[in-house]
Amino acid sequence: MQNLNFINGRWCQSLSGETLPVTDPASEENYAEIPRSGAAEVDAAVQAAEAALAAGWRRTTGAQRARLLRAIAAGIQQQAGALAELEVRDCGKPITEARYDMSDAVACFEYYAGLAEALDGQQGTPVEVSDPRFEVKLRHEPAGVVGLIVPWNFPLVNAAWKVAPALAAGCTVVLKPSELASLTTLRLARIAEEAGLPAGVLNVVCGLGSECGAAVAAHPGIAKVSFTGGTESGRKVMQARANLIGDLALELGGKSAMIVFDDVDLDHAVEWILMGSMYNQGQVCAATSRVLVQDSIFDALLEKLRHAVQGLRVGAGLDDSTQVGPLISAAQRERVAALVRQGVEQGARLLCGGEAPGQLDKGYFYLPTVALDVSRDNVLWREEVFGPVLCVARFGNEAQAIELANDSRYGLAAAVLSDDGERRERVAAQLVAGIVWANCSGPAFIQAPWGGVKQSGFRRGLGEWGMHEFLELKQVTTYTSADAWGHFNAR
Ligand code: NDP
Repeated sequence: MQNLNFINGRWCQSLSGETLPVTDPASEENYAEIPRSGAAEVDAAVQAAEAALAAGWRRTTGAQRARLLRAIAAGIQQQAGALAELEVRDCGKPITEARYDMSDAVACFEYYAGLAEALDGQQGTPVEVSDPRFEVKLRHEPAGVVGLIVPWNFPLVNAAWKVAPALAAGCTVVLKPSELASLTTLRLARIAEEAGLPAGVLNVVCGLGSECGAAVAAHPGIAKVSFTGGTESGRKVMQARANLIGDLALELGGKSAMIVFDDVDLDHAVEWILMGSMYNQGQVCAATSRVLVQDSIFDALLEKLRHAVQGLRVGAGLDDSTQVGPLISAAQRERVAALVRQGVEQGARLLCGGEAPGQLDKGYFYLPTVALDVSRDNVLWREEVFGPVLCVARFGNEAQAIELANDSRYGLAAAVLSDDGERRERVAAQLVAGIVWANCSGPAFIQAPWGGVKQSGFRRGLGEWGMHEFLELKQVTTYTSADAWGHFNAR
């Protein structure tokens, strides 16, 4: 099966005709191809997006855009079953999680339809200023052509989280999916086309990050780039944007800690640890990857955790009973395995996992892994593994727990489990992270802001903040007095 770029409302090959293989992570089979595009295709997409903006998209009302966003949501909903299966073949995740992703994408387009409508009523909001002869009003205007670069771990969801608010804001889009998982994003473009989105408003260009992604980051016609991915790629995108003084939002990696106090129900704690660390094989930017457990419950919790982790069903994502699927690629599995080997060389001890499962001879599987005795300079404590790998450490008191949790160059998410509400609030206030989960780990809501601090990036996606990322605030100031201004005449 060959897939094509979607540029200016047309489906097209890369200019060179070159393609990249699409591999099923569970069977290792190459079953499709995507175009290998670069700067020329990105430039064509930017020109199409500029033309669509000028041709009228910029002047659409929020209500008009809302109708299209709802039609896209309905299109995803109608095809949700097939899209979920395609997502599993493309990136390996368990089908139960892929189904959830599809419902999340539908909800995202519906939510931003509502915000687009509401935007119409917010134009012209007055700002009270100190001189009554002036009337200041605010306008929210689309940023222009935006470049959206998304990763492979939640392909359609990540695309939806950016495309829906960008369209709601009245921007036009050049979208670059990951070369490892582009297929559902191309389906999204098909759905948008069928929903009646005008040509050039949404363009999807496939290719390698170093070629196609780099071209998006460096294009002077792109007013704003919104990037989700690894910290190293984010750094390169930021360098490219700096040359243009170009606006940028980054959602990067994490090394999120969960603090488990000794007043919790141990079985509930284990459930949230699994949810936080093993969902999507741990390939989640906000994954819980360091669990800090209070001394007095450490041994009991560890025993329950070992039992639960070893009981997880590892297998192909299309099998309904699978809880942990394959990693995205051979390279990613090797990266995870190498980090675990290095961690052990540096003194960590594995409670379980640390290898590929013996019973599966095909697929990029890696057993859920728990590491102990991980010192603070160990690579497993410091680096984002992006796989089903968790370290567990102990702490004595609240202050120690907070200090350990904040010992990271990242600051995306953190979690605290305790029966004591005051303690949860106290700890949440001191955790240096964009997201703190209390008595849970992992839930993301379309309505709530998403993003991190420190090297996890800056700016916030989702919620109203996600749409305002794609809007520029303009003040329109009117002199309303009948009197002449007279400033120079008076001298
Ligand atoms: P990347 O950061 O490379 O991928 C994210 C997106 O950026 C992809 O579309 C990628 O394209 C693109 N990209 C890559 N290089 C550039 C560049 N120089 N300029 C512009 N765009 C670029 O993640 P990887 O897939 O390489 O994973 C590496 C690590 O990043 C992971 O192991 C994990 O630690 C982290 N990661 C974090 C994610 C998050 O949500 N925070 C998501 C994915 C990865 P392409 O895939 O085609 O190369």
